Amino acid sequence: DAPASGKVCTRFDLEKETELRFEVEAGDAAEQVELELLTGMAEVFGSELNRNKKYTFGPGSKIAVFTWQGCCVNLYGKPEVAYVSKDTPMLLYLNTHAALEQMRKQAERENERGPRVMVVGPTDVGKSTVCRMLLNYAVRVGRRPTLVELDVGQSGVSVPGTMSALCIERPADVEEGFSVQAPLVYHFGSTSPGTNIKLYNKLTSCLAEVFSQRCEVNRKASVGGCIINTCGWVKGSGYQALVHCASTFQVDVVLVLDHERLYNELKRDLPHFVRVVLLPKSGGVVERSKECRRDSRDEKIREYFYGFRGVSYYPFSFEVRFSDVRIYKIGAPSIPDSCLPLGMSQDDTQLKLVPVTPGRDLTYHVLSVSSIEDGDDGARKGIVESPVCGFIVVTFVDTQTQVMKVLSPAPRPLPRHTLLIMDIRFMDMK
Ligand code: ATP
Repeated sequence: DAPASGKVCTRFDLEKETELRFEVEAGDAAEQVELELLTGMAEVFGSELNRNKKYTFGPGSKIAVFTWQGCCVNLYGKPEVAYVSKDTPMLLYLNTHAALEQMRKQAERENERGPRVMVVGPTDVGKSTVCRMLLNYAVRVGRRPTLVELDVGQSGVSVPGTMSALCIERPADVEEGFSVQAPLVYHFGSTSPGTNIKLYNKLTSCLAEVFSQRCEVNRKASVGGCIINTCGWVKGSGYQALVHCASTFQVDVVLVLDHERLYNELKRDLPHFVRVVLLPKSGGVVERSKECRRDSRDEKIREYFYGFRGVSYYPFSFEVRFSDVRIYKIGAPSIPDSCLPLGMSQDDTQLKLVPVTPGRDLTYHVLSVSSIEDGDDGARKGIVESPVCGFIVVTFVDTQTQVMKVLSPAPRPLPRHTLLIMDIRFMDMK
């Protein structure tokens, strides 16, 4: 059976409550794979498929097509692997959604707030996917939940090195994920919370505060609640960061994916009214190598500047004079307690703004453009807690003329002049 595109076509008949898992080969030369639902009903991570529509998945995609009632689908092209599994935790995930929906109904009746849910677990257990499914199911029954993205390594909302919140108003697009309009984004600056755990906890609290303020004025947001995606670092300070998040967001439910010890520790350490639930991971979740994670981070930055699939953006390149901007790094290198000035603690150093003198080593760094009003130095205090309004990348530094060239999504001039440096770099190969 050869379609017009000339790609090989494979047909799969799926029984009820089974899923077709497939992976598209990674690499630029890899062929895309198309998916078409022929009969019945099916969904990809909680987003329903339209019948007779072809969905295209690019290199590196790892997809599961799940059906509650049974269906028939075609795959066009050569996936790296494709198999049908009967063994999925989807029923448990759906039951979790049903329980959360009960809590929303109760919140509605009693004029309370809806469930605040934190999803935790080690790397590669499908945390982001479970968040996506729960958000999709909620929005499909008319709720307006909020996604809180605390995974600074693999953010589903903004570029890596950020922490953010996004109101979900419609199900995720099958190919592209959630529509990212007007997210609230904070600068963290690195891909691991361990680089500056004080800042990580501080920004978690900022997000919690803004979310709570929104809930006070927006009933739908309050009843919809939130789903918090976290980092895969679940030991030591990483674990403490989860406990901090649970307390600052006042979470009601913690979903622990595939980690019994973490489940027991959280049950022990969180207040008794927090429901801690252990859920299995799906056998379909694919482990990703370091390179794979790095590539997907790079891709996320590329998408920010150049767009994704059908939507192309055309970024701008222009010069910025050093004297027109103020560049800071958040956090001074830690020094032994005994060397700290009197009355100062390590906390202060981790949240300190350190002015950066522009030099060649700035090249390729991603810089966040803070939303803080340009003003006198008095405004410096609020920089750490201010959201960002966008990102630029330094592509060239000329120390002679004291000018740097930047890649920017918007034309000159920069909307604000306070810039925060990330330790993440992006080399524009386009
Ligand atoms: P991280 O360690 O980055 O936090 P995670 O725990 O959030 O990872 P996900 O990003 O949800 O994990 O999943 C990892 C990959 O597995 C993704 O590419 C996702 O599309 C894929 N995946 C998830 N569930 C399935 C499934 N049932 N079948 C096939 N692929 C899946």
